[in-house]
Amino acid sequence: MSNKIIPYGRQYIDQQDIDAVVQTLKADYLTQGPKVQEFEEKFSAYVGSKYAVAVNNATSGLHLSVLALGLQPGDRVITTPITFAASANCVRYCLGEVWFADIDPNTYILSLEKTKELIESKPKGFFKGIIPVDFAGLPVNLEAFRVLANEHDLWIIEDACHAPGGFFKDSKGVKQNCGNGNFADIAVFSFHPVKHIACGEGGMVTTNSKKLYNKLALLRTHGITKEKMAENHGGWYYEMQELGFNYRLTDFQSALGITQLAKNDAGVQKRNEIATIYKNAFDGILKYQNLPKGTLNAHHLFVIEVEKRKELYDFLKENGIYSQIHYIPVHKLPYYQELGYQEADLKNAENYYGKCISLPMFPSLTKEEQEFVIEKVLEFSENK
Ligand SMILES: *Cc1c(COP(=O)(O)O)cnc(C)c1O
Repeated sequence: MSNKIIPYGRQYIDQQDIDAVVQTLKADYLTQGPKVQEFEEKFSAYVGSKYAVAVNNATSGLHLSVLALGLQPGDRVITTPITFAASANCVRYCLGEVWFADIDPNTYILSLEKTKELIESKPKGFFKGIIPVDFAGLPVNLEAFRVLANEHDLWIIEDACHAPGGFFKDSKGVKQNCGNGNFADIAVFSFHPVKHIACGEGGMVTTNSKKLYNKLALLRTHGITKEKMAENHGGWYYEMQELGFNYRLTDFQSALGITQLAKNDAGVQKRNEIATIYKNAFDGILKYQNLPKGTLNAHHLFVIEVEKRKELYDFLKENGIYSQIHYIPVHKLPYYQELGYQEADLKNAENYYGKCISLPMFPSLTKEEQEFVIEKVLEFSENK
């Protein structure tokens, strides 16, 4: 075994990606140009949504999403504590209130039952929306969440940052791709290098609503539009119709996104092969994320649970294996603690956090590297 460090995640960039970026650098557009549009079209075709809006990262995408859905100061939104902080922060950007519902202890994703309990414990109209997260790549059953959301007049933003290429099967047995917009109002993807598709920074927002699409596109560029105005006013004329942002993705990042997207199915397949090898090695010995029937986990992560988590983390690190913890529950972060979440009753999330550890999971992980990781995890488990 070489003494190379094995990270928990790593981007995969090949010559085709490099050539695509170089070609775009030599073309006319650096920022928003034809490659952005091509990326949007290919991405929406890939997930099966009507529309897609490319943005400079998923955090911006989440911000635009809550704005497009009309979030006002004081509005209450439910999300999971086991996610990256950005899933909740988007609500705070608009001075909304974040409410956490607990996770399911076996799938680690936002529990439908706990969400329902929380909603039903409050008067009608108390909440405005739900932000479920396809945690680790495991698709949330959005059909079930849609039923609940419809009963209470809530919108849904699917945080699909971990799950491009994942799907669940609905009650009719139909494959529902993450981000296809059939049940959620909006979905958001990230192209940070540890995620499936690497653009350096980048994100994509998908929706099936023309109205939301127009709003997202307008807010991405300062709230400024020129459409159909030149005839009346002159070629220079534009209007700023809303207070928007500059959340654009560049053309050369989009060129990279296009070639990366083309490799995503192969990457998801490889991730699932890696997951199967882990599961076979750990079956009956260690707990790992449970997969509901008919679901394809896109496997951004492979999470196991162990009692002596810190010891395992340190032991792996000594052996050059850089595992990671996903996540410190969001309500435990100092910013949220100061907002008053000390009393939050989220036992499953806190229990999970005490034991979870993410093992190396990325398409270019070699067989030898994975065997070494498994050997070290088992060695640790046998000795403790
Ligand atoms: C990575 C991530 C984000 C934020 O993505 P950026 O592109 O880095 O802004 C949001 N939500 C989840 C669940 C993520 O994993």
